[in-house]
Amino acid sequence: MRPAVLHAGYRLTIPVREALEHAGNIVRPAVAQYPGDRAGIPYWDIELSCPIPVVVCRIINTSDIALRLAIEPRYPGEILAAWWERGEWLPCPRCGAATLWDEAGRVPGARCCVKGHRVQVNSRGTRITREGA
Ligand SMILES: [Zn+2]
Repeated sequence: MRPAVLHAGYRLTIPVREALEHAGNIVRPAVAQYPGDRAGIPYWDIELSCPIPVVVCRIINTSDIALRLAIEPRYPGEILAAWWERGEWLPCPRCGAATLWDEAGRVPGARCCVKGHRVQVNSRGTRITREGA
């Protein structure tokens, strides 16, 4: 099995779930309970090994993080997630693998992919580059 990074408790659209699974990621109903569970909103845990292009957003007046494809309509109350939350979904520019937070003793945005490549997310969370690039 490929190494993966766990992202827990996300809201997803059906096309995002299908695209994640098609790319080889594992998507399961969330183990933990989330406030929206009581409102019938499903939450998902994602074992991310092959990131895909997604829009990462927050839903106002909740603590929800939601994913959708760029071509899909916005969620009601959607705002763009913080740059570091969006940066978590960018693939390693060298190998395409998922990345992990790696800022301890380093600059903001420093990440390391699950295969060990050191990379850097820009301050808008829109681009990831090889360290030193
Ligand atoms: Zn890599």
